[in-house]
Amino acid sequence: MANASSILIVAINPIDRALLQPLAKPLTGTFRCRVEVTRDVPLDGSFAFNLSRNQYASTSLITSLLEKFEDFDGKILGVTAGDLFVPVLTYVFGEAQLEGKVAVVSSHRLRDEYYGLAPDASLLNLRLVKESTHELGHVFGLLHCNNYLCVMHSSTGVEEIDVKTNRLCSRCSELLFAKLNA
Ligand SMILES: [Zn+2]
Ligand SMILES: [Zn+2]
Repeated sequence: MANASSILIVAINPIDRALLQPLAKPLTGTFRCRVEVTRDVPLDGSFAFNLSRNQYASTSLITSLLEKFEDFDGKILGVTAGDLFVPVLTYVFGEAQLEGKVAVVSSHRLRDEYYGLAPDASLLNLRLVKESTHELGHVFGLLHCNNYLCVMHSSTGVEEIDVKTNRLCSRCSELLFAKLNA
């Protein structure tokens, strides 16, 4: 395999660590690289908490992961249960450095409980796989895709996440493959 890179999944408090391990296999399948979940204690995300919004600043979490993993030469996926925002948006499911190193995703709005429904652990796992794949896709240089079944399709609500698959369409797959082998 031409790409020597790997993906490290990092827990950021608040987080339910049980959510992390199920991400490894599907991410390995899509990005064709080693995926590991760090055994370290979760990072404390409280420095990124915005009191007036009651949310965590996703860009601050990305900056902090970049500093902490400066010497790591793979990609980093930070996962938190905290609600994420960027200043211009009400919320985000995640954020990524395009063609960069770090992405963060949140499980907060992926839980059915958030919408007044009964908990559904397998649906939560699937949504988190989709959003993690999507944000890491950006890290590997992929842009948004018009194919509504493609995981790189942009989703502003969980309904749209549920419509798309957890996979790259053939076009995005080819693009990723070209980038991995560049
Ligand atoms: Zn996106
Ligand atoms: Zn696509």
